[in-house]
Amino acid sequence: MKLLAGGSVFDVRSGQVAEADVVVAGERIVAVGRGLDADEVVDCAGSLLVPGFIDCHTHVCLAETKKDPFGLPRSARPLSAVPVLTTLLCRGVTTVRDAWGADAGVRLAVERGWVEGPEILVSLRQVCTTGGIGDHWGPRSGPVDFFGDPAMPDPVFNGADEARAVVRRMVRAGADWIKVAASGSMSLGRGVHDVQITEAEFHALVDEARRLGGRGVMVHAHGARAIEAAARAGARSVEHGTYLDEDAAAAMAEAGTWLVPTLSVTQSDPDAAAPGAPEAHRRAVELALAAGVPVAMGSDNPERPHTEVLREIHHMSAAGLGPGGALRAATWEAARLLGLSDDRGEIADGKRADLVVLHGTDLDVSALDTRIRAVWHNGRRVS
Ligand SMILES: [Zn+2]
Repeated sequence: MKLLAGGSVFDVRSGQVAEADVVVAGERIVAVGRGLDADEVVDCAGSLLVPGFIDCHTHVCLAETKKDPFGLPRSARPLSAVPVLTTLLCRGVTTVRDAWGADAGVRLAVERGWVEGPEILVSLRQVCTTGGIGDHWGPRSGPVDFFGDPAMPDPVFNGADEARAVVRRMVRAGADWIKVAASGSMSLGRGVHDVQITEAEFHALVDEARRLGGRGVMVHAHGARAIEAAARAGARSVEHGTYLDEDAAAAMAEAGTWLVPTLSVTQSDPDAAAPGAPEAHRRAVELALAAGVPVAMGSDNPERPHTEVLREIHHMSAAGLGPGGALRAATWEAARLLGLSDDRGEIADGKRADLVVLHGTDLDVSALDTRIRAVWHNGRRVS
């Protein structure tokens, strides 16, 4: 047993910081409180202990693939995740949901210990209707088999029956989550306000995912009407939500849909974003908070380099969550969204010992990178 002694602990439920020791046995936290004892003592005086961070929207295999989508051998894509996973772990990210690009083999490699990294939940590809952003097609080539890999199934569907079929294909290949593209993309600058999935298709996707092991649906949507339609159909989370309005926020609050705003996309380099998008995006978060929509952290990297992952917590804080709210979105709310809150997301008796030890005991999140003193993952110090 190990005693992380003399530090302060962030309580995700109250948002308060209190002095406490933490006892770790195996991969679990077994006690939190004052004056505890254990055989091995780790000095944490002057530090703040927070739960391991959870990035609910990242792309661990796309840093190289996006630069050269068709020029790399197949093995280069999963192997390019290796340095990314180390980067994330060193910054205290101990769980990620991959929003497309990683196959089930990447998850397996971490589970088996071939590669060290955060635990990964995969969605494989973004399912979409013909012409959507997951549909790789060229006017000269026609349909392009982007991955050329049966572990990354065809994501294109049309109609409710095919919606069920595409969910089954993804689950067969090992998807933990179903990622749906419901609007165009900011980077392509097309169809941002479109609603590319019909009501019947949305319901079929959500219902089929639920039937298959209670899986959830995460929906890429920028425009308010696509966001609203996703929430009404029962999506577990809306990704980006850039142009969210009051009606869409009300629908999300009513359905209990999380917003994963991925603010890094517009806030890290506002000059490079679409005109008005940085302002709209911050306003979307304000509207969501005012309506009582739960918010969870997602970086959408490598939109920015993975080294900048913790900037997302700063952006959420600045957009209205405040430092405590942003830390909660990156831990407890993220664990709740992913259905993992019985297992992790807070520093409490019985939870997984995923911990970040920060220099200083305050809640300042403006430069978290510089505050990392140690990272513990599954009860083991990894950084
Ligand atoms: Zn993304």
